[in-house]
Amino acid sequence: MPELPEVEVVRLGIQEHVVGRTITQAVVHDVRSVRRHLPGAADFTSRLAGRTVVGAARRGKYLWIQLDHDDAILCHLGMSGQFLVSDIGAPEPRHLRIALTLDDGRELRFADQRIFGGMSFSEDGAELPPEIAHIARDPLDPLFDPAEFSARLRKRETGVKRAILDQTLISGVGNIYADESLWRTPLHYARNTRHLRTREVEGLLVHIGEVMLEALAQGGTSFDALYVNVNGNSGYFERSLQAYGQEGKPCQRCGTPIRRDAFMNRSSYWCPTCQPRPRNGKF
Ligand SMILES: [Zn+2]
Repeated sequence: MPELPEVEVVRLGIQEHVVGRTITQAVVHDVRSVRRHLPGAADFTSRLAGRTVVGAARRGKYLWIQLDHDDAILCHLGMSGQFLVSDIGAPEPRHLRIALTLDDGRELRFADQRIFGGMSFSEDGAELPPEIAHIARDPLDPLFDPAEFSARLRKRETGVKRAILDQTLISGVGNIYADESLWRTPLHYARNTRHLRTREVEGLLVHIGEVMLEALAQGGTSFDALYVNVNGNSGYFERSLQAYGQEGKPCQRCGTPIRRDAFMNRSSYWCPTCQPRPRNGKF
């Protein structure tokens, strides 16, 4: 599943290769990929023909292509969405769902094996599509406000991992980045947000930002190859993980075997020594 750094790589690729181009034609190969565009596929394609791409923006894991006249194409990458820029007539990728023909002889292609992703036209959505206005900024966003995040976090009475996975509080933190940043801080995932100390919240934010930046720096595939894979299998996941997926391996800080707990239909990985489990509601 694409995490924030993979989506940012896609955004940068669209920014570099597609901005300034006019869409001459849009073709929907699979209507399921425009199911979020409620007026239907024909309406979707008719709205895009003749429009010029002026930018690419992101909030958390949400991406939108900004068009002239303040509209946008909201893109959901889902579990397996990929963007490719190809010459017209080049062999089509497997699972091609949507193709936007550009005025420079190329196409922006959206492939998606599992079809959890897709596109919709967002009227007046260039600055921020109303469909995702409830999504909070991520820590790499220049306008992210740490003081506001800290205040909102403390007002909740919930486990800290559950809180940072909540995209309305802070966006872009998936399960892997949550476990890694909690290990670095270190904090147990069930620590109550109301009782976190100021330096713990500050440390957690620093480590979330670090993990994201490292993943971005190591994020593998570049758009220069005219192919962006956003399956989330960047080299980062193999080389740099210190908690996630490390069950039974020695903690790199203290040597205690990393543990795995079931958590919200997924898993939480943590070090019992560095990240002691809270014993009561106060800790
Ligand atoms: Zn440890």
